[in-house]
Amino acid sequence: MDKRTEYIVRKLIDTHSLDESEYKELIEKRTEESALILKEEAVRLRKEIYGDSVFIRGLIEVSNICKNDCYYCGIRKSNRSCDRYRLGREEILSCCKDGYALGFRTFVMQGGEDGFFTDDFLCGVIKEIKALYPDCAVTLSLGERSRESYERLYEAGADRYLLRHETADSGHYSRLHPESLTLANRMECLRNLKEIGFQTGCGFMVGSPFQTAECLAKDLKFIESFKPDMVGIGPFIPHKDTPFRGCPAGSAELTCFLLSVIRIIHPPVLLPSTTALGTLQEGGREKGILHGANVIMPNLSPTDVRDKYMLYNNKLSTGAESAQKLDELKRKIDSVGYKIVTEKGDIIKK
Ligand code: SAH
Repeated sequence: MDKRTEYIVRKLIDTHSLDESEYKELIEKRTEESALILKEEAVRLRKEIYGDSVFIRGLIEVSNICKNDCYYCGIRKSNRSCDRYRLGREEILSCCKDGYALGFRTFVMQGGEDGFFTDDFLCGVIKEIKALYPDCAVTLSLGERSRESYERLYEAGADRYLLRHETADSGHYSRLHPESLTLANRMECLRNLKEIGFQTGCGFMVGSPFQTAECLAKDLKFIESFKPDMVGIGPFIPHKDTPFRGCPAGSAELTCFLLSVIRIIHPPVLLPSTTALGTLQEGGREKGILHGANVIMPNLSPTDVRDKYMLYNNKLSTGAESAQKLDELKRKIDSVGYKIVTEKGDIIKK
């Protein structure tokens, strides 16, 4: 590690903040040594706040029907080979029932932007879940909606909302999405969610096509200023029926490095070790935890739809990725020195 990198690493640890150009250097000049120092600091910070607890969230993939055409995503509108489905109210409630019995105290409803999910429908389901399981958090990840819609969902009882910003560089954003989707609107949604009172999550893919260290530096600077409650990052993995089918996947090493950096930038952040990381590399999920992540989101969708919510090739939904195999996940997390807990797992702000 050269003197300059040493200075930047020190500055990040001491001040939880860097200039955009320093983030870029931190990424470009990373070495095993700088990564190790950042990893140890990330682990220290996360232990200080969350001990050795790992929170779990039951992920219910409510629909793979989507009006958008994001170039990277396997459930994009133009993918004719995608076998489409959506869950109804009873199916969603049945997932929650199973999840509750297994110990889950957060239910995440994620899906494509499916017009079937009107505010009325969602508010009904949210109210029902909150009435049946008042000790649980409801998280939504249903894409871009109007401010009024977000307000209604919040009033119905939804607690958290995940909306990855995907990239904080508008030029890069337009290379990943069709013209109808803009970074400005994505950011407007995130600001609205936060103002309304949701625990709000942003995030991005690591190694998405055309991504540079400069893009990532902007992502980190955005996280530093936005101070989200949650940040979801995972490697880009190509999907065979998308325009990015031939693009290389992102790296597990860089994903883990960035998990550590994000933990240091915003120590209380709820940071999942994602399915994409677990899919890309054997033991990836555990590796994420060891680099500062503290959340895992096992799949709680009905088993017959799991292989239809295929965002990228080979997406894991069996084994420890399955909510029903929580014991297997517990063992794996135990084996690296952490503990799955069944608390609601809100952010701890000091
Ligand atoms: N419609 C919702 C949920 C999208 S799916 C929304 O717009 O927020 C959740 C996340 O999966 C996306 O935000 C994206 O970052 C990630 N994703 C999609 N395709 C992917 C791919 N090919 N590789 C890795 N992650 C992908």
